[in-house]
Amino acid sequence: MTLGMVILGRQGSGKGTQAIRIAERFGVIHISTGDMLRAAVKEGTKLGLQAKDIMDAGGLVPDNVISGIVEERLAEEDVVESGFLLDGYPRTAGQALDLRSFAHENLQLAINLDVSIEEVTERMLNRGREDDTEEAIARRLELYEAETAPLLKWFIDEGILCVIDGRGTEIEVYARIVDAIEGKLQ
Ligand code: AMP
Repeated sequence: MTLGMVILGRQGSGKGTQAIRIAERFGVIHISTGDMLRAAVKEGTKLGLQAKDIMDAGGLVPDNVISGIVEERLAEEDVVESGFLLDGYPRTAGQALDLRSFAHENLQLAINLDVSIEEVTERMLNRGREDDTEEAIARRLELYEAETAPLLKWFIDEGILCVIDGRGTEIEVYARIVDAIEGKLQ
């Protein structure tokens, strides 16, 4: 069985950066729904046109749309062969149920990168991404508390949640995540 993992955390928690390193370290494919959507917007595909306004407003793309994309990606050969680290998905209870229906057996670990609201707001304002206006940041954090934070309980019930303190340097946080994954995989 290949390794399947999910990384959760507020936007601005450093989750994307850590996900890239962790995926490389453990030889799994990094799947970022945010990156996939941004690429679609850039290419001007149907999905991109559909997602752009929602993303600019800090809203969520509908569950059926995003779950369809993830399901297709998980079925591709590289992912089937190497396993995956999902970054930015699932974000709602509906998406978690969808994920369970198409990847339950492979899902072994959910990492929650824990950083406070105050700290992520400051980090996001400093990174200067196009969709990082103050309103969009506030909206995304609000949605995270309402839609995504309740998923933590779902992952606890599944017995696969691991909470990582996301404060400190990138290297410190990385080391904590690696330790947690290795501990879990033993
Ligand atoms: P991210 O890079 O993960 O912060 O994603 C950027 C934006 O893409 C989000 O603010 C959402 O508008 C959209 N997005 C990414 N992943 C999802 C998802 N799983 N469900 C709904 N919308 C998403």
